[in-house]
Amino acid sequence: MAKSKVAIIRCKNYEPETVYISIKKALSLIGEMSSFVKKGEKILLKPNILAGRNPELVTTTHPAIFEATVRLLKEEGVEVSYGDSPGFDPPIVALKKSGITDIAEKYNVKLADFERGKKVDYPDGYYGKQFDIAFGVLEADGIISLSKMKSHQLTRITGAVKNQFGCIYGLNKARFHVKIPNATNFSKMLVELTKFLKPRLYIMDGVIAMQGNGPASGEPVNMNCIIVSADPVAVDSVFCRMVNLPPEYIPTNVYGNEIGLGNCDFSEIELVGDDIETFVKKDFDIPHKPVKDNAVFKFLLPLKNLITPRPVIKNNKCVKCGICVKACPVEPKAVFFKNDDNQKSPIYDYKKCIRCYCCQEVCPHKAISVKTPLLGKIFG
Ligand code: SF4
Ligand code: SF4
Repeated sequence: MAKSKVAIIRCKNYEPETVYISIKKALSLIGEMSSFVKKGEKILLKPNILAGRNPELVTTTHPAIFEATVRLLKEEGVEVSYGDSPGFDPPIVALKKSGITDIAEKYNVKLADFERGKKVDYPDGYYGKQFDIAFGVLEADGIISLSKMKSHQLTRITGAVKNQFGCIYGLNKARFHVKIPNATNFSKMLVELTKFLKPRLYIMDGVIAMQGNGPASGEPVNMNCIIVSADPVAVDSVFCRMVNLPPEYIPTNVYGNEIGLGNCDFSEIELVGDDIETFVKKDFDIPHKPVKDNAVFKFLLPLKNLITPRPVIKNNKCVKCGICVKACPVEPKAVFFKNDDNQKSPIYDYKKCIRCYCCQEVCPHKAISVKTPLLGKIFG
């Protein structure tokens, strides 16, 4: 595989002109926008809209990143559409709350259909042989992926590769969690999905990232950068290096490299733009250790639920909205209102819980965190 070019550009705020100039500069270093799209093509912009959140909460791709990319595509005479399939809210609601819709309306960008879709075979896939892809994705000639730099409880990071998970429409995403609860295999499915969809370009919003209890309840952290490349594995590897995480700790990087989606080895990545070392934040709040599956030694199996990291509700923050209960993909639910009493916070049945952390992702009040029980800490 040829070396992957990755442009890193310093960008200290979301002032629209600053972001536009930064992305334009990045493109000038890896190939202008005209090398990724052609006049008259239908190009879908896929931001990360995990949930309908105000941009200041840094859960979602910032509207300024979306706006700058729209402008660059319009300059090429491209027909632009946009969409995502959030974890809980309907797409139209989440896109509006996250500030994306206002920009789309300003530039007359079409909302793509992410509420409906169809099954598409991917015979080359091992972990994902069939995907339920949104019509809005299938109708486009190409995709540009606008990811957000964030920590993630299941896959450690969420970035360029994981962003394509939102191309699966509706509740079908939750089914994948049930079908593939193992974090490594889930990551491999994400790699295959990205290889199948083949976005043409990946732009990562790292101006203000999310650390800690990501991907929805973490804290903002200034990383002051935008990362642009045609290689999603290289983008995520650059993200890892910036947060002092060896890229090989992340299964999407390892498998992505293995099956030729991209490069995670820095000897195969050509960095252009600003010096990566000036962005490194060693104390970025993320576990600096490899992603571990919730597999345990056979002799410890009876203790599994006392060992593996689990979601925990902070009662003082919980407003009893029940969103976590609705989002839980297992049946019967692993998080539920005891005796249907929604005057008290939901409780967990950890024996049923597959540790997908969807509940933690969707809680709008940062009331759920993932904690490793004492026994788990002892057994590592
Ligand atoms: S934990 Fe969060 S999502 Fe669940 S009921 Fe409480 S506030 Fe709502
Ligand atoms: S309780 Fe939470 S972590 Fe467990 S299966 Fe349900 S959504 Fe996933």
